[in-house]
Amino acid sequence: MGLKVHSYESLGTYDGPGIRLVVFLQGCPFRCLYCANPDTIGFDGGTETETAEIVRRALNEKPFFGKRGGVTFSGGEPTAQAKELVPVVKELKSNGINVCIDTNGGIWNRDVEELFSLADLTLLDIKEFDNSRHRRITGHDNTVTLNTAKWLEDNGRPFWMRYVLVPGLSDYEEDIRALGEHFGGYKMLGRVEILPYHTLGKHKYGTLGWEYRLEDTPLNTPEQLSAAKALFDEYFRCVTVN
Ligand code: SF4
Repeated sequence: MGLKVHSYESLGTYDGPGIRLVVFLQGCPFRCLYCANPDTIGFDGGTETETAEIVRRALNEKPFFGKRGGVTFSGGEPTAQAKELVPVVKELKSNGINVCIDTNGGIWNRDVEELFSLADLTLLDIKEFDNSRHRRITGHDNTVTLNTAKWLEDNGRPFWMRYVLVPGLSDYEEDIRALGEHFGGYKMLGRVEILPYHTLGKHKYGTLGWEYRLEDTPLNTPEQLSAAKALFDEYFRCVTVN
């Protein structure tokens, strides 16, 4: 059985280092209130795609990847298809292609462990450090996500953290400080990206017949963004990604 692919983005510069082919996979167990790709959440849909097709696309774009670029698997949640994804990643790596996995870190099993062992870089999305606020945002605990980060650290696997800053949902100073205290000493954490909240995916909710539950949530002001950046900077090498 092939991977269920939602869509592709060629020459992406947003999901990992350098220029990348981004493969969005179908299906995610989380239900983030601000999900910008709600059409990737359902496990129905997507196009079953064989390894050879993904490798062919990657090889076509390889001349543009340079030294740092490669392929990023995003979603949806790539680890939900870890069993099918492992052979694809092996094939890409045997062709000298750098592989990133963009994940919420909320799934753990042997296939996921193998996937993270193979990936050159994991982009770990941490939605909130406080578990009850994490549940409010995603509908799930953050325990597995925090354990995933620890596994990456303990096993010498490089990762970046991505943190979506949403006014009133994930911008609490005490939680960001607790996150900083928890992860500040992690040696495999190469970079922290603050992603300002945006509403670019909002129109998709109407198409899906879903309610957009953050109607009343404002965008971050420049002052909020610079205050959050200063806070993160106390603990991490951090950038704001617009
Ligand atoms: S983890 Fe990502 S894909 Fe899944 S619901 Fe949250 S934002 Fe959407």
